[in-house]
Amino acid sequence: MKISTVNCGTISVDAGMMFGNLPENEWQNRYPVQANGTVKLALRSMLIEYDDRVILINNGCGLKLSEEMKASLYLENEFALEQSLRDLKLAFSTVTDVILTHLHFDHCGGSTVINKGRVEPAFPHARYWVSRSQFESFLHPEDNELESFIMDDILPVYEQSKLCFIEDEPNGFCDISFRRFNGHSTGMLVPIVRYGKENIAFVSDLIPFAPSLILDCVSRYDNNPVLTIQEKTLFLAEAVQQNYILWFEHDTEVACCRLKLEHGLYLKHNSGSLMQWIET
Ligand SMILES: [Zn+2]
Repeated sequence: MKISTVNCGTISVDAGMMFGNLPENEWQNRYPVQANGTVKLALRSMLIEYDDRVILINNGCGLKLSEEMKASLYLENEFALEQSLRDLKLAFSTVTDVILTHLHFDHCGGSTVINKGRVEPAFPHARYWVSRSQFESFLHPEDNELESFIMDDILPVYEQSKLCFIEDEPNGFCDISFRRFNGHSTGMLVPIVRYGKENIAFVSDLIPFAPSLILDCVSRYDNNPVLTIQEKTLFLAEAVQQNYILWFEHDTEVACCRLKLEHGLYLKHNSGSLMQWIET
């Protein structure tokens, strides 16, 4: 197994949305807040090469956003996914599996591209994996999730029968197992990649950036913040006990960390790049 980082650019969103109920005087010393009151978020995907499979977990915003939306998100490096794959000497056509933790546009927008006016799967030979309940939420969104789901990101994949449900692979595949969480969005997946003795948890929007290690720091994008706190409480205890490596999708400063529990607080322990722990 080889694991690589695939960068898909950055976006910036209102700091208050990400910090939720965390008091404002605690923001700046935990994460850089920009002059316009936003925080910059990475779109850090993971690529796994396993035997003859090439597996991509999430793929950023893609190239289909309107100019207005790009401006409101302060989208930077929108072609980073293409560049990252080129740097790895891979093509879109070599990807065999695309795992989507959930279908919010900043995680799955790169799933499709516009080709001669038609929206098509960007990875023509890939199966795309999602949870059934997440796909149901996507088809029938609650009001607060309406703006996070963009039909063109996934419907063309579904219509070409390339969408697969993780429930049909209950044990996971290629040393990747899946956990489901419902606080941020119903049926959101957290893939856990087994690499030798290590477990690498792609925590996605369960813990979007390091400040979210504080149990009460729950983003206002979450559907059910109370449930998120319950889910994080259980998951973080497990992550400490099992010495998981967490992979942050959105944190620009911290790509990965292990955890320690001190005085009831979950803290970063040895943060940095994944490569310091694993030889790929
Ligand atoms: Zn999300």
